[in-house]
Amino acid sequence: MTRRQVIEAGTVAAAAMASSGALAQGPAPAAQGQPLPDGVTLPSSAPPAPRPGSVGYAIIGLGDYALKQIMPRFAQSQRCHIAALVSGNPEKLARVGEAYGVPAEARYSYENFADIAANREVEAVYIILPTGLHAEWAERAFAAGKHVMCEKPMALSAAECARMIAASERAGKKLMVGYRCHFEPYNRAAMELTRTRALGDLRLIRTEHSYRLGPATPATNWRIARAQTGGGPLEDYGIYGLQAALYLSGEMPDRLSASTFRPEGDPRFSEVFAHVAVQMHFPSGTVAQIVTSYDSAGINMVEARGTHGALRMQPATGYGPNALVLETGGTARPLEPGDPEVQFAAMLDHLAAAIREGTPVLTPGEMGLRDLRLMEAIYAAAASGRSVALNPDGTMRG
Ligand code: NAD
Repeated sequence: MTRRQVIEAGTVAAAAMASSGALAQGPAPAAQGQPLPDGVTLPSSAPPAPRPGSVGYAIIGLGDYALKQIMPRFAQSQRCHIAALVSGNPEKLARVGEAYGVPAEARYSYENFADIAANREVEAVYIILPTGLHAEWAERAFAAGKHVMCEKPMALSAAECARMIAASERAGKKLMVGYRCHFEPYNRAAMELTRTRALGDLRLIRTEHSYRLGPATPATNWRIARAQTGGGPLEDYGIYGLQAALYLSGEMPDRLSASTFRPEGDPRFSEVFAHVAVQMHFPSGTVAQIVTSYDSAGINMVEARGTHGALRMQPATGYGPNALVLETGGTARPLEPGDPEVQFAAMLDHLAAAIREGTPVLTPGEMGLRDLRLMEAIYAAAASGRSVALNPDGTMRG
């Protein structure tokens, strides 16, 4: 498979999918209202009035992550508030709007979203939709003159990421990817340990992000529908290991190899892979192994090993209690650098500060684009069975 064919294939997974037989692909994604997810606790009282200078966010996509993780964390933010909601389910929109004190005129549907341009309370749009909808809704948000926070993965392909960055530049508005681990104390401490060479020269990084999906089909779960998700576990969960390999090494890989696996006859994997394994080589000589699966018992693990010590994180990139053990000189020391839960509010406040102060964001669209380029290289390597040489920007060489 040539690089040109890979690029022409359009989506991240297309190249590798094509090599694994004729796979069904669902219809092109459209935004569609969904019921209130199970297990959501809505606030019992509306939040206090925003502080002066607070940045108003519109939340688009009222699903699991929005309602259980992001929206409740605005209460801990210093510089932003929820100013509007966008949903395709009118009952859910009304119920969530009441609970969060969002006035009826600031509740939008997918159909009348463009009206948000006139709402001066809304300065940023947080896109928490299935991945296949990120590019389209980021472009719509920029067209409405808003800044954008976009959930990970940024989109389905590098081409979509490039479109989003171009739209952000045309609008003169910021584009940030919701890579929360950059704001999480354990991961920040791990970055600092490798940056300051506390482990000596970094040699090996190993990451594993896996869980076992229950019974599902592409029609019942967008995470296994190729048109909404790409290749599957790598974009959804393995992306944390990919990110960790990059922020712990502080380098871009110069080559990688990969394998994918998809069992026959399992409806969960009619459109996506069950496992992806990646081996990366960095110019310094560091090697990283990144493993991810939708069909094995849960694990969330990152390890880095240098010439003089190691760090172990398990859980490494979770919402709540993460762990970090530093091993040097024959002793293992658990570190407790802070409350992992601050990551959400810190990320929300970071974009707000960047908007107010005109400063750059730590996790910009270019970082999301870089990661999608690497995922395209991973799928190309897996499809060809050969290692792929990379340029410093993550594009494939040759
Ligand atoms: P979800 O299925 O629970 O919610 C998605 C929501 O999008 C739905 O509830 C609905 O409101 C809306 N939607 C609009 N059109 C839809 C369509 N055609 N099909 C399905 N839903 C549609 O998903 P989620 O777990 O909340 O994930 C949403 C985004 O957040 C994804 O990009 C995902 O990768 C990301 N996410 C990030 C993290 C993280 O830790 N950063 C964690 C979970 C999810």
